Amino acid sequence: MPLSLSSSRVKAKALEIGFDLCGVARAARYPRLDRLAEWIAAGCAGDMHYLDDSLDERSDPTAALPTARSVVSVACVYNTPQPYSASIAAPERARIARYAWGEDYHGILRARLRTLLAWMADEVGPGLEAFSCVDDGPVQERVFAEQAGLGWIGKNTCLINAERGSWLVLGEILTNADLEPDAPAHDQCGTCTRCLDACPTGAIVEPYRVDATRCLSYLTIEQRGPIEPSRRADIGPHIFGCDICQDVCPWNRRAATSDAPEWQPRAPLAFPRLIDLCEMSDDDWRRVLKGSALTRAGLRRIRRSLACAAAHLDAADRDRALGAIASHPSAVAPEVADAIAWARASGTGC
Ligand code: SF4
Ligand code: SF4
Repeated sequence: MPLSLSSSRVKAKALEIGFDLCGVARAARYPRLDRLAEWIAAGCAGDMHYLDDSLDERSDPTAALPTARSVVSVACVYNTPQPYSASIAAPERARIARYAWGEDYHGILRARLRTLLAWMADEVGPGLEAFSCVDDGPVQERVFAEQAGLGWIGKNTCLINAERGSWLVLGEILTNADLEPDAPAHDQCGTCTRCLDACPTGAIVEPYRVDATRCLSYLTIEQRGPIEPSRRADIGPHIFGCDICQDVCPWNRRAATSDAPEWQPRAPLAFPRLIDLCEMSDDDWRRVLKGSALTRAGLRRIRRSLACAAAHLDAADRDRALGAIASHPSAVAPEVADAIAWARASGTGC
């Protein structure tokens, strides 16, 4: 539809609202969108059945919005001036993916997208059809972000911006507005294989393909029930997510950081001592989880990961940590009890 709205005005408004990057892509059925079906068929999605359930929409933006012509893609840098987690490798410290250190990005991005959408509606008037989503909508956000020029999808499958790095959270607006598209970003991974070499579980099974069922982000956040015995030792100190394949990426050596208060680490989420997390009561956790992306995993899965991680502590700390977890009500959940029993039997004491 002809609209009195230009891409440059939308992008300027997005930056004014608080996004760090904004670009526009055609709402087209890009060949890369078809890789999701192959990935699911190969068993790489594990328990994430919602991906299969919304495959039609995820493969074709006009299945999500029949009149869609454009996708406005936005990103925020959540990186803060904290040291990289890989440089603070210590078995007594828990690792939490840095996107979860501050406020839950979903709420922040949704509010900003709502503001952008309301402005677009005011500018265009009747006739605008659009919806926004963060990573819970039926849109393959990285594919559209790449097409919109925000960055390329690296071999670790993260979106990498050549100036800002890959510590980015993404959102988008699908709309019937016919906006001038940006040029797509080009792959700059070259011959690098650092992320494949560094992944502790071999989850990057080939360049540009992560088998979620091997990935620590999936195992600590998405997987339901007990973690397979053969995967428990892999958890290491990872309580929620994993940053390793981004930590080692050369494009993050000079990654942008943000001073915005919403992204700054909240106690106790940046490199806490494992033992301290194990001893936190349900009430302590409720306070920490409120407004945090950690709610995606929930307390049971967090304690399941804590128990697996405690296996790597020395004997005295391991007993203390597992005893503390076992004293909390969530320990009766099978996945937590199972992890405690495994860690008691198999402590590595490293
Ligand atoms: S997040 Fe961690 S486990 Fe997952 S692919 Fe990256 S390095 Fe491997
Ligand atoms: S570590 Fe290397 S191969 Fe992996 S995403 Fe970064 S540049 Fe690409």
